[in-house]
Amino acid sequence: MNTTVQHALIQLKKQLKHLRYYRDIHKQVPTGKYEPLPQEAVTAYNMNRYSGPEKYICFAPFTNLFFDIRGKVVACNQNRMYVLGDIHQQSIDDIWNGEAIKEIREHLANFDFSLGCNKCADAILSKNYHGLPALSYDSTRKVHPHFPVRMEFEMGNTCNLACKMCNSYFSTTYKKHFKDEEAAQPLPYPENFAEQLRPFIPHLQYTKFTGGEPLLIDIYYKIWDLIAEINPACGIHIQTNGLVLNNKVKSALERGKFYLGVSLDGATKEAYEKIRLYGNFERLCQNLTYFKEYCERKGTILNFPFTPTRETLYEVQKFAGFASRYNAYAFFNVIWEPHSMAIWTLDADELEKALAFHQSQNIEAISYLETHNKLQYDFFIKQLEQWLKNAREREQRYADFEQYSNDELIDMLTNRLIEFEGGTPRIWINNEIIPEPELYFRKKFVLKLKENPAKTRTTMIKLCTYDTERVYMEMSSFSHLW
Ligand code: SF4
Repeated sequence: MNTTVQHALIQLKKQLKHLRYYRDIHKQVPTGKYEPLPQEAVTAYNMNRYSGPEKYICFAPFTNLFFDIRGKVVACNQNRMYVLGDIHQQSIDDIWNGEAIKEIREHLANFDFSLGCNKCADAILSKNYHGLPALSYDSTRKVHPHFPVRMEFEMGNTCNLACKMCNSYFSTTYKKHFKDEEAAQPLPYPENFAEQLRPFIPHLQYTKFTGGEPLLIDIYYKIWDLIAEINPACGIHIQTNGLVLNNKVKSALERGKFYLGVSLDGATKEAYEKIRLYGNFERLCQNLTYFKEYCERKGTILNFPFTPTRETLYEVQKFAGFASRYNAYAFFNVIWEPHSMAIWTLDADELEKALAFHQSQNIEAISYLETHNKLQYDFFIKQLEQWLKNAREREQRYADFEQYSNDELIDMLTNRLIEFEGGTPRIWINNEIIPEPELYFRKKFVLKLKENPAKTRTTMIKLCTYDTERVYMEMSSFSHLW
C-alpha cells in the first residue's frame, strides 16, 4: 500500500472517530462527585488530538508509572503532587493496583483534573494543546488490563553539569558548585529494584530514563540490559546532556534500541556554556555527530529539547536550524522555575519586546523535519503571546497587594502554601516530611527579607499573583537564588 493510500485511510479512520464521538458525547457528561472541565473544552481538545477523540482525556494513569527521584511513584512527571505510592515502602504491583491510582483514573475518566493535573487543565482551557503533557501519553494508548505499558524513570541525581535552572536535588555537581550544603539528597532506590521490574518488562512498549545524567546512573545499565534480554523491541528513551560518551555508553547503546533526547539550552558556544556550567560545546557537537549516526543506523530518533530561558530569549530563533543540521527533532520545553530564569515571569514590557523580535524572524523550512522544527518555534511564539497576556493581567493586580505590610504578605503566602498541602506535608525534600512546614516557609521569607528587603518585597507581591503550585515550587526549591 503506498503512503498516499495509507494517509487517506488514517484520515478516514479519524473522521469516523470524530463522528462517533459527537454521536456519543451526551453519554460522557459526568455527574456527582467530580469537578469536570467544561464539556466544550474537552470536546475541542478531543478534536485536536493527533489520533482523534479518545476514550480517556489522559492515558497516563492507565498506562504509565513514573518513578521519581524521591522514590515516589506518580502518574507522570508533570504531576508530582498526587503520589500513587512509595517504592521504599510498597511493591510496584501494590502501587499499580492501589487505591490512589484508582482514584486518579476515575477523576480523569470524568474530566476532573483536580488531583494535581492543573497544568494539563490550564493547557486544555487555553487551547495550548501543543504543550499539553497528557497528549504525549496518546502514543501508548492501548491499555493493558493488568500491567503498565510504559514506565518512566528518574532514579538518581548523579550529574556532571550544574545547569543554572537545575537544583541540588537533581544534580550532584550543582549542589557542589552552588555550595548548597543544606540541600537533602535523594535516597538510593532499593538494591533489588531492577529485579522487581522483571515481570513488568515483557509488557512495556515504552520506557524513558532521566536523571541527573542517565548515562552516569549505574542502576539504569542493569535495567537496560534486562530490557535488551527480555523485550528487545521496547524502545528506550533517554534524556541526556550529551557529554558522556565512553566505551561503556557505546556498548550499552549497541545492545538496546535507544531513542536519544539531548537537552540543549543554546545553539552557540557562548549561550550554551553560560547556562550549562561545566559543559563543553565543542565536545557536545562531536558527540551529537555520533548520536546522529547511531539513530540513523538503528532507525530510532534523535531529538533536541531546548529550554528557552531569559538568557537565551533572543537566541531561540537559532534552535530550529541547529536541530535540523543534526537530523534531530526540536522541542521547546518551558521552565516554570526558578522564576529568575523563567520567561513567563518577565514583566509585560519585556515580553512585548521579545514577542515583536520573534514575530519578525524569518525561518526557512523545506523538508519535513525543518517544517516540524519551525513549527515548534511558532508554538514558542504563541506561548509568548499568552504569557504577555497573563503578565498584563498580573500587573494589574499588584496594586491589590501593595497595601499590605511585609508581615501580612508573609501570612497570606504561607497560608496559601499550607492550604495547598491540604494537611499532607509534601515538601520537596527526600523521603522526610518537614515537621513544621509553616515555620519552614515563614523562616525562608523572613531570612530573604533580612538579606534584601526591597527585592524580597517586590518578589512577594509578584508571588501573590501566581498560581499556588508555582509559589510552592519556587519556595521549596529555588528561594536560594533570589
Ligand atoms: S492529566 Fe496531565 S498531569 Fe494529569 S496525569 Fe495526565 S499528563 Fe499527568
